[in-house]
Amino acid sequence: SPVVIALDGPSGSGKSSTARGVASRLGLAYLDTGAMYRATTWALLQHGVDVEDADAVAAACERVVIESGTDPAAPTIHADGHDVSVAIRGQEVTDAVSQVSRVPRVRERMVALQRAEIAESHGIVVEGRDIGTTVAPRAEVKVYLVADPAARAARRAAETGEQSAEQVSATAESLARRDVIDSSRTASPLAKADDAVLIDSTTLSLDEVVDAVVRLAEP
Ligand code: C5P
Repeated sequence: SPVVIALDGPSGSGKSSTARGVASRLGLAYLDTGAMYRATTWALLQHGVDVEDADAVAAACERVVIESGTDPAAPTIHADGHDVSVAIRGQEVTDAVSQVSRVPRVRERMVALQRAEIAESHGIVVEGRDIGTTVAPRAEVKVYLVADPAARAARRAAETGEQSAEQVSATAESLARRDVIDSSRTASPLAKADDAVLIDSTTLSLDEVVDAVVRLAEP
């Protein structure tokens, strides 16, 4: 079975850059499971589904087709045939994604798709919230990445080009809100797997974090 590196942690911990860096370094595929939940959310919003209505979300998610491009140099994601790589980073999707991803039927579908991607790959870095606990509990390497909340908000602000102190603190609040919803979910809590290695990226450069994960992957 293909080598799997599971990279979990809250938003803004540097997961995506780290996962892509590790995949590029090791010549592995890359799967962004957050993008899959976001693409599903985009499609539901497109269909006018009320994301607060768990039954409506569960019913509508059956018809959504998600396709992930797994090249770490140029990750893409399609929903119902549309390239939504940019649209899924917008505020509308960001505000709704936690409501959608707490619906058990959505999670079942996403986990099945993710396991299929893993099985088809020749080795893959998978980033998300529940990879080490649920999606790939037998992954060779499991990392749980964290960073100080203020550093996370500053990083996110830099990513989105929003630099004012007000915007940074608004981002901090929005990240915290998403974490609360993500970790209060019964279906699959935001939690570190017991056997995951905890890495705090607060004071590390991206290269240093990538190095640390690559070292775990090398025997
Ligand atoms: O990682 P990202 O911030 O793009 O994830 C967006 C949302 O998708 C998270 O806030 C969470 O609600 C959901 N998610 C999840 N399980 C995963 C990955 C993401 O529930 N494995």
